[in-house]
Amino acid sequence: MENIEKNGFAAMGLNAILLKAVEAAGMATPKPIQEQAIPAQLAGQDILGIAQTGSGKTAAFSLPILQKILTIGDKRKGKTARALILAPTRELAVQIEETVRMLSKGAHISTALVLGGVSRVAQINKMQGGVDVLIATPGRLTDLVRDNRIDLSETRWLVLDEADRMLDMGFINDVKRIAKGTHRDRQTALFSATMPKEVATLAESLLRNPIRVEVAPQGTTAAEIKQVVHMIPTKQKKQVLSAMLKDATLSSVIVFTRTKHGADAVTRVLEKDGYDVAAIHGNKSQNARQRALNGFKDGSVRVLVATDIAARGIDVVGISHVINFDLPDEPESYVHRIGRTGRNGASGNAITLYDPAEEASKFKAVERVTRMRLPMADSPIDLSSLPARVASNDQRPARREGGNGAPAKKPHRGQGAGKPREARGEKVWSNDGGSPEQKRPFRRNKRKSFGAKAA
Ligand code: AMP
Repeated sequence: MENIEKNGFAAMGLNAILLKAVEAAGMATPKPIQEQAIPAQLAGQDILGIAQTGSGKTAAFSLPILQKILTIGDKRKGKTARALILAPTRELAVQIEETVRMLSKGAHISTALVLGGVSRVAQINKMQGGVDVLIATPGRLTDLVRDNRIDLSETRWLVLDEADRMLDMGFINDVKRIAKGTHRDRQTALFSATMPKEVATLAESLLRNPIRVEVAPQGTTAAEIKQVVHMIPTKQKKQVLSAMLKDATLSSVIVFTRTKHGADAVTRVLEKDGYDVAAIHGNKSQNARQRALNGFKDGSVRVLVATDIAARGIDVVGISHVINFDLPDEPESYVHRIGRTGRNGASGNAITLYDPAEEASKFKAVERVTRMRLPMADSPIDLSSLPARVASNDQRPARREGGNGAPAKKPHRGQGAGKPREARGEKVWSNDGGSPEQKRPFRRNKRKSFGAKAA
C-alpha cells in the first residue's frame, strides 16, 4: 500500500478501493487534466473541460462520480441512473463503460450501456432495478426515456463527453432534453476537444459556475506526432496507400476517409492486395464495428479504415500511423484523427495524402485550425513507378524488367496462385526509385519508406 499512499491520486482523497483499481489500471500518477478536474469535482464544482481523447479525461470525470457514489452508499431505485455519462458514438460509450468498470473494480458499482444499433430489451432489463452509472448515446437514451423505460429524475451527476462531436452529429436537442430531465441539483461536467461557439453556448446553459480546465490549446496537434503531407492525385491515392503499407514499420494503421463509400472502396483495394484490413463506419452493424475494433486492438487487423465519426474517441494503444486518405470536411477532424497516434507520450506518425487540385480549401482550413504549416514530404512519390494494375483501375500491367525473383505477395484465389508475382505479369512498386521488388506486404525490410520519412 505504501506506493499507493504516495501517489497523487491518494492525495486527492480518493477511496482506498478506487486507489487500488487506479493502481491496477497502471495509472501511477495523475495526468494534468486529472490533477485539475478531480479535486474540483470532488469539491462539488461543475467542470468545463477542453481535452482530447488520450488526455486521461475519462478517469478525470469518472473517479469523482465513483467516489461520491461510494460515499453515499446504495440508493438505487428502479429505472433510475445515479450518474449519466453521454457520449456521441457507440464505440466511445463502450470504451467509457470499460474504463468505469476498471476504475470501480471491487467497489460493487453497477453500470449499464444504452446505445443504438443493438437490441433495446437487454438494456431495458438492465435498467429495471436502476444502476449507479449509465453510459449512453443520446438517440437511444431519448427513446427509452420517452417510453418510460429510464427515469433520469434521480440523476445527480451528468457528464457530456466530446460535446463538440455530439453537436456535430445533430444531438443538440436530445442532449438538452436529457439534461432537463435530470435532477435539478445535479453536478455537471462537459468535455470537448474544441470549443466552438455552439459548445460554449450549450456549456453556459448546462453548467453552473464551472471551473475551466484545459490541457492542450484548441486546435493544436500533439507535439510528439510527426506529420507529413504527400501530394497525390485522388485517382492514385489507393495504390499509393497500398504501396506505403508494404513497409512493415506501418505496423498498426488507421486510414481515415471522408465518406463511408470511400472507406469501403479503400478497404476493398487493400483486401485485394492481401492486407489484414477492416472498415468501421456508420453503415456497419454494431457487431461488425465492434469486431473490427477488437481485431484492431488484438493486432489481427493491421489496417483499420474509418470515417471520422466512427473513429471518434477510439482509444487503441500503439497505433503507429494515422493516414489521412483524404482531408476532412471539418478541419478540426484533422486534429482528432492524428490524435489517434502518439498516445500516452509514445511517438506517432501522421501521413496525409493531399490532392491540391481537389482539396486546396480543406487543406488551408486545416492549416488555419492547427495554426501551422503542414510539412510537405522532402521527396515526392514517384507515381510512375506505381503498379499499373491499380493505377489504371485493375488493368493488367505491362511486364517490367528487373524483378529480383523474391517470393511474391500471396496471390488471390484464381489469380495465378503459386506463381511469383512477376511471373503473373504484375510489377511491384518500389518506393526508392530502384528496380521493382517483390515482397509480401508484411515482410520486415530495412528500406526507407514514406513512413520512415514521417517517422
Ligand atoms: P482517455 O483520454 O480517457 O481516453 O484516456 C487515454 C488513455 O490514458 C487510456 O488508455 C487510459 O487508461 C490512460 N490513462 C488515463 N489516466 C492515466 C494515468 N493517470 N496514468 C497513465 N495512464 C492513464
